Amino acid sequence: MGERLNLIDAHGRTVNYARISLTDRCNYRCLYCMPERGVESIPHSQIISYEEVLFLVGWMFRAGIRKARFTGGEPFVRKGLIPFLHRVNETVPDMKIALTTNGSLLKKYAEEIRALRLAGINISLDTLNDEKFSMITRGGMLSEVLLGIDAIADFGIPIKMNVVLIRGFNDEEIPDMLDYASNRGILLRLIEFMPLDNEVWAKGRYISSFEVVEKLSKLADWTPVALKNEDSSPIGPAKYYANESTAQRIGIISAVSSHYCESCNRLRVNSSGMLRPCLFSNSSLDLRPALISRNSEELFKIFTSALNMKPKIGVKQSMDESRHMVQIGG
Ligand code: SAM
Ligand code: SF4
Repeated sequence: MGERLNLIDAHGRTVNYARISLTDRCNYRCLYCMPERGVESIPHSQIISYEEVLFLVGWMFRAGIRKARFTGGEPFVRKGLIPFLHRVNETVPDMKIALTTNGSLLKKYAEEIRALRLAGINISLDTLNDEKFSMITRGGMLSEVLLGIDAIADFGIPIKMNVVLIRGFNDEEIPDMLDYASNRGILLRLIEFMPLDNEVWAKGRYISSFEVVEKLSKLADWTPVALKNEDSSPIGPAKYYANESTAQRIGIISAVSSHYCESCNRLRVNSSGMLRPCLFSNSSLDLRPALISRNSEELFKIFTSALNMKPKIGVKQSMDESRHMVQIGG
């Protein structure tokens, strides 16, 4: 494939963003993300190698993808992450690369992170309370995440704090989270709890984005003003609001109550190289043989099929074992 391609799906949407999971393993066990018993790990031999991911990212760039987000599981638990990211920076310099992490290992790798060219780091942090943090992550330590955030806060890398809102667990913490984020120049994003996993999903725990906006309006010092798309960069599934008096921005991700499918610009690749056309689709396409043989033409065919499979609106399918977010990559 010499010429640049445009990845446009059957509904006219341009795909220019890929989420790539580098591992299905994680050092946390978040209640909403995986069952208590854990999930069966993919054997190491089936995990896409860094060389294969490099080839994939290079191909994706030539195919019009401009941003790749590396996720997991927890990307920092995969050995060699930092050298791999350096190689992406070197070999595909114009690809924007970003990370989604639970933040637990940020302090350990802070100096190495500083040397990378990262377009952003999203940190999942659902509560600022030690005990609740340990409970939701099944054993994680809040202090390690907070120290990690402080360690990288002045690197100039845009940081987002992603919070999955769960009724009765963290919905009363929104004012504290707004303060925490504002004091560190972090963008807070509140995410609707998604019913991907039958074992942990409970309707009563779900809070819609409409309710969040209502909650914001009721805060003494918050008047949320919806930002127009062009003001609410970066584009994506979040709707952005600004506080009228302070201009602090907040993102609300409503994957459940109001689909952002119309403007969906993404594809997902899991850690065994399965290309998932839509977060909510159960079918995926195997990239691994094409990656192993470095076959660009075959990749093009598979991506074309995936684009044709992208539904206009993603509909939650019946649950199966591979529906845990830790395996999909979020
Ligand atoms: N370990 C990393 C982290 O926690 O950020 C990256 C992978 S994690 C699967 C990616 C994102 O998926 C996290 O922000 C997490 O909160 C989100 N997530 C997991 N299960 C979810 C669910 N049921 N509903 C909404 N978001 C979920
Ligand atoms: Fe691990 Fe992230 Fe899932 Fe929590 S949300 S269990 S940190 S993959």
